[in-house]
Amino acid sequence: MPPTSCDVAVVGGGIMGAATAFWLRRHDPSLRVVVCEAETLAHGASGRNAGFLLLGTHTDYASAIGAHGRSRARQLWQFTQETVQLIRETLDGAAFDLALTGSLIAAGSPEEAERLRRSAELLAEDGAEAVYHDAGDVNRRIHAQGFHGALFVPEGGTMHPVKLVRHLLALSGATALEGARVTAMEPVNRGMRLVSERGIVEAGMVVLTLGAYLPQLVPEAAQFVRPVRAQMLATAPVAPVLGLPVYSHGGFFYLRQHADGRLLLGGARHLHEAEEVGYDDATTEALQADLEAYLQTHLPEIGAPVIERRWSGTMGFSPDGLPVVGTVPGLERATFATGFTGHGMGFSLRFGLLLANRVFERTDSYADLFDTRQVNAAT
Ligand SMILES: Cc1cc2nc3c(=O)[nH]c(=O)nc-3n(C[C@H](O)[C@H](O)[C@H](O)COP(=O)(O)OP(=O)(O)OC[C@H]3O[C@@H](n4cnc5c(N)ncnc54)[C@H](O)[C@@H]3O)c2cc1C
Repeated sequence: MPPTSCDVAVVGGGIMGAATAFWLRRHDPSLRVVVCEAETLAHGASGRNAGFLLLGTHTDYASAIGAHGRSRARQLWQFTQETVQLIRETLDGAAFDLALTGSLIAAGSPEEAERLRRSAELLAEDGAEAVYHDAGDVNRRIHAQGFHGALFVPEGGTMHPVKLVRHLLALSGATALEGARVTAMEPVNRGMRLVSERGIVEAGMVVLTLGAYLPQLVPEAAQFVRPVRAQMLATAPVAPVLGLPVYSHGGFFYLRQHADGRLLLGGARHLHEAEEVGYDDATTEALQADLEAYLQTHLPEIGAPVIERRWSGTMGFSPDGLPVVGTVPGLERATFATGFTGHGMGFSLRFGLLLANRVFERTDSYADLFDTRQVNAAT
């Protein structure tokens, strides 16, 4: 089989690969872009996630400031705002069920409620919109019990992640090679040669968007990302209770309701930390029971709905909880992006733009925000 030749090979057909391919072609419609995906498009975390499009990082804003400093936390918030804005302005939301309802970040304890109340103040000072609800308000608003308060963030919402990946790739015009696991890479002449299960791919530049799987191809990247399992379930349709996605207990639970009434619930990983690591794609009875207990505790109005589906996925967690961008050691024509730490959708479209800008050596105001040097400085 003759080699497949292209200007840029994107390795990994999840949301980050699709978003990168989209922007590469927007920058230069004549560019030949190939996306190599080991399985089928969106086979990884991007095809298994809850479709929350949230602002900020995986923690509340007050905690993000504590972890990363005020200026960086503000930039991270703005970055995710830009994702939502780009999704709204450059894509056809109907193609991927975009619902810009805003979100509720609900508190599982009085301490968390206090952090959310403080987050509302800090966000207001930084020019962002967010409204604190006390316990009575939040529980009334979503027909729930037991939440101690909540932050309503009017921007963001939900979408269908698989449809979004497919939409972006269709718009990009990139060639998607499914079943093309890349097993080796080497520099050749003024480009790169990839060995894939569908033959050799020769590319001027390579962008690795492999999520948690990056260390399987680039072992040195294990310092930047580790695999963490997430489990979810979907109920049969129930009466409408939630008008917007709910992210609670510091993000350790996330719950939304589809237009057809089905509830999607994920999380409980913190209750099973030792088991929920690695690449094993499986659900466990113990964790799934905790998800069901959460429904009974917080949404008693819905009774005990039938559980129609249970599934898992592998997320890539970074040491500081933020995504990482870098150059593969020894391969100056290969860029990688990983470590979205359970929050890739909020970073998605803007992150693809950042990666495309990096390929074209264009200026990007966020170029240093996720650079590996920042991780090195923080660890
Ligand atoms: C259950 C679950 C719920 C989640 N909920 C949310 C949510 O609601 N909101 C949110 O923002 N985030 C959520 N996340 C996290 C989000 O899904 C990820 O941050 C995001 O999908 C990461 O995208 P990615 O493109 O970097 O990685 P992935 O989607 O994992 O894509 C990597 C791709 O690379 C492929 N691949 C692997 N090895 C190779 C190889 N050698 N050669 C070629 N291809 C290869 C894989 O098959 C995969 O398709 C959730 C994750 C899970 C698992």
